Amino acid sequence: MAAKKKTIRTIPQERTPAREQDPVVRARNFAEVTHGYRVEDALLEADRCLMCPDQPCVRGCPVNIDIPVFIRKITEKNFHGAYDTITATNLLPAVCGRVCPQENQCEGVCTVGDSLEPVAIGRLERWVGDMAIAEGWSNVPYIEPSGYRVGIVGSGPAGMACAADMAKAGCDVTVFEAFHEAGGVLKYGIPEFRLPNSVVDAEIAKLVQLGIKFECNTLVGRLFSIEQMIEEMGFHAVFIGTGAGYPSFMGIPGESLNGVLSANELLTRCNLMHAREFPSYDTPLPPGRRVAVIGAGNTAMDALRVCLRLGSERVSCVYRRSRKEAPARAEEIHHAEQEGIEFHWLTSPVEVLDDGNRGVRGLRCVRMELGEPDASGRRRPIPVEGSEFDIEADMVVYAIGTNANPIIGQTSRLKLNSRGYIDTDESLATSIAGVYAGGDIVTGAATVIQAMGAGRRAAASMRAWLGLRDTDSVYRDVRDDPARKLFGIELDEHDFALVRAPAGASTTPAATP
Ligand code: FAD
Repeated sequence: MAAKKKTIRTIPQERTPAREQDPVVRARNFAEVTHGYRVEDALLEADRCLMCPDQPCVRGCPVNIDIPVFIRKITEKNFHGAYDTITATNLLPAVCGRVCPQENQCEGVCTVGDSLEPVAIGRLERWVGDMAIAEGWSNVPYIEPSGYRVGIVGSGPAGMACAADMAKAGCDVTVFEAFHEAGGVLKYGIPEFRLPNSVVDAEIAKLVQLGIKFECNTLVGRLFSIEQMIEEMGFHAVFIGTGAGYPSFMGIPGESLNGVLSANELLTRCNLMHAREFPSYDTPLPPGRRVAVIGAGNTAMDALRVCLRLGSERVSCVYRRSRKEAPARAEEIHHAEQEGIEFHWLTSPVEVLDDGNRGVRGLRCVRMELGEPDASGRRRPIPVEGSEFDIEADMVVYAIGTNANPIIGQTSRLKLNSRGYIDTDESLATSIAGVYAGGDIVTGAATVIQAMGAGRRAAASMRAWLGLRDTDSVYRDVRDDPARKLFGIELDEHDFALVRAPAGASTTPAATP
């Protein structure tokens, strides 16, 4: 008997919930807030996908994951197949399933979402990614060496995505990272309770399996320049993915007091340099009993919630617009509220107050009201005269946005734009031949998946420039990979469609290996 066609009325009406740690308990520990799905949860949720022919979710994903196909494979219990489908375009499913703003991307346009809650695509992606880590799956194809050497500067999502594609195209790839550990913001910025370091490390291990070499503690621009990489160190092409981690301050009085720091400094000390395990690790972090964090983006939410977990008694968020305009993901604000963060919406700082000892005793603020929309389309905040008030604080954290990391720009002849970001053309080529750039260092602060998309786009341009065939065609050749046979992965019409569509190289190589 033919299976009954699924409709919006026949699918499970409620989204399958993900279990979470209790807010009171989790506010004082660094363990992950949201637990992943169990297999029964994943099967139930996957069954909510209508497999609509229009597939808006695929267009809503910045790297166009074939979402209906991976979900269909879950319903068929072909879990490795689901993993293959996701990783055909997204290198880091366990990461993106956790931190992508799905509500504005794939889930935001899901057809089911027109009538019910959208399919929990992010949770399903995370579940597949976690299963791959737990089972030790990877998609290492047979790679024929091309003889080309590629240097990647920065090991964040942009650098990792570019490195993976160039390695799959047969290049000898070395990633240079300034910090002592690879991963970029995934490692130094996003805290363990949202993205455990072990997940990032497991994904990086897959890059090592591809033959990619990581050289940490290497500050490019100080140890050697971009020009030296091409002219003296034997790299045929270079990708720059150095991010935008340079903090912004407001320029108000009191910013040089002890106890004022940027969110990135706080998070790096805590996440990457283990300050929270002091004295086992000797990274100091000024203890904030009462903390005020300025800003309401993802970084601010992370800083607020980290302070709570470090033991601060009272943690306040100060933001000049209303909750509606806050740039952080809705889920992060919700979690912060649940955990007891105090929010001062429509509030702007005017001075950090001195305790008389060069330390902080508070933050003087003014109330704001919203006027007409500004260039960003959001209503402009206007100070309310005579509304000043003080928030008690011994630590003030700035999370009001970041700028381009400047060292590469200062030490090379790369063309920069007026804001200090690297200037590229459509193909992400910079002003130096053979040097490409992408991610936050080109666009300004964006998202993990956008950085990865840029890394992949730059890799495609680099391959064309070197005269190499398209990565995907190499990747798709894995249909004969013994590992696939080992795992009993069946080919389906989807794989064949991909296999039949190899792309070729387009331009003359700039250099021969
Ligand atoms: P980065 O991740 O910044 O990586 C750049 C790397 O280059 C760093 O490791 C840096 O040390 C290294 N580097 C810099 N200069 C040099 C040099 N001269 N030599 C060698 N190495 C160098 N996005 C989301 O999608 N979801 C989220 O939930 C989210 N939360 C965030 C939370 C925080 C606290 C922050 C700061 C950002 C968050 N983002 C989030 C944004 C996202 O993480 C970034 O857009 C993304 O990481 C950018 O990737 P990238 O590879 O361009 O740069």
